Amino acid sequence: MKNFGFGFMRLPFDGDKVDIDLVKRMVDVFMENGFTYFDTAYKYCRGLSEPALREALVDRYPRESYVLTSKLSNEFMHSRQEQEEVFADQLKRLGCGYFDYYLLHNQGAVNYKVSLELDSFAFVRQKKAEGKIRHIGISFHDKAELLDEILSAHPEIEVVQLQINYLDWENESIQSRKCYETARRHGKPVIVMEPIKGGTLVNLPREAEELFRSYAPDASSASWALRFAAGHEGIMMVLSGMNSMEQMEDNIRTMKDFRPMNGEELRLCAKAADKIQANLTIPCTGCGYCMVQCPKHIPIPEYFSLFPHGYMTTQMVYYYNLTQTHPKAGDCISCHQCEKHCPQHIEITRHLREISEKFDAFKGWR
Ligand code: SF4
Ligand code: SF4
Repeated sequence: MKNFGFGFMRLPFDGDKVDIDLVKRMVDVFMENGFTYFDTAYKYCRGLSEPALREALVDRYPRESYVLTSKLSNEFMHSRQEQEEVFADQLKRLGCGYFDYYLLHNQGAVNYKVSLELDSFAFVRQKKAEGKIRHIGISFHDKAELLDEILSAHPEIEVVQLQINYLDWENESIQSRKCYETARRHGKPVIVMEPIKGGTLVNLPREAEELFRSYAPDASSASWALRFAAGHEGIMMVLSGMNSMEQMEDNIRTMKDFRPMNGEELRLCAKAADKIQANLTIPCTGCGYCMVQCPKHIPIPEYFSLFPHGYMTTQMVYYYNLTQTHPKAGDCISCHQCEKHCPQHIEITRHLREISEKFDAFKGWR
């Protein structure tokens, strides 16, 4: 199996509907180039992703010609019965007979608790025994320490899906490298999600772009991001949520004859990450001086490191996981103590207010 997967998370839309003709053409180009791995989830594209995958792939190609992964998105579920019903609905919606890989979705401080409450690990083991799942996995968005705990408690997990890209590699909130190393220490193959960080690593600041162009004038920004993500030992698959034929063709050029990065290229990625970091919306360096006298103990640098280019919804899950064990951004009482200590002169209270307005009000979360 080639190491590049088509993520059905950011499909092209025509008004309210998935642009299914374009998705079919993209699937055809993907398959013609020898790629076979597809990733979806029950709730992707407001529930339209799985039906689109059926129409564009399952109904048009023999079952053995592709590898299909979906996920148990149990975060909003309240009973084991609901888990059964959603799983049955997924198989029906996709019409695929079985899942090659089935992941417990978005495990972290919040959803791991839900998975234990609903006995989701036993549930997927049972479905595997029934032949409806070939391989069990998790997708994970939290700290390496928790990943270690989950993998130690559940040796039935065969594969781990992680957010890996050169900007998050050393990020202390996302912990790409530490999570990757933890998964590998447990001997698990890794599937990469967000290698381009929701498009952030395509639209680069000029200094970062020049760095890459001076080394390889014709290589796209996306190709640097994909090659970084795919090049580490034990990476089974790199997913890209493509929504245009141009993205598909560019990514195929990179991944068809995949070349791991050499030392110089890896160093350039680290340098580019520094340049991107320097252009961030909130230029927080993570020094932590602001927290010393915060009466509410708000983890200010941790929250700020999640939002390098504005308050992207892709980071929402990390924020919610952190709020399970820390005060929320909205708990700030605007005493401004923190701002007196910030060497970067960041308007901390304003940014916390913006994060709170965007994410604390979300009612769907358990
Ligand atoms: S303004 Fe908010 S974040 Fe800053 S010290 Fe006061 S409570 Fe803490
Ligand atoms: S003091 Fe300023 S730069 Fe340092 S962690 Fe706090 S917000 Fe970031």
